[in-house]
Amino acid sequence: MKVIIEKCMHCGACVGSCPSNAIFLNEVIIDFHQECNQCRRCTKACPVGAIQMEAGG
Ligand code: SF4
Ligand code: SF4
Repeated sequence: MKVIIEKCMHCGACVGSCPSNAIFLNEVIIDFHQECNQCRRCTKACPVGAIQMEAGG
């Protein structure tokens, strides 16, 4: 997963949507950790469509 930095407004919605607690909001940077199971809930939770799935996960 990756975040399009220019779109992200740091609302934190993706962090709360993740069932694996794999997303972390560090100041203005969104971090995905290896606990991510590719469920894509965060992509749907993001109000500005800033999260996209990468080819490699
Ligand atoms: S795809 Fe699912 S598990 Fe991975 S970061 Fe998003 S909400 Fe969490
Ligand atoms: S839900 Fe979208 S806009 Fe909000 S912090 Fe996550 S990536 Fe950024």
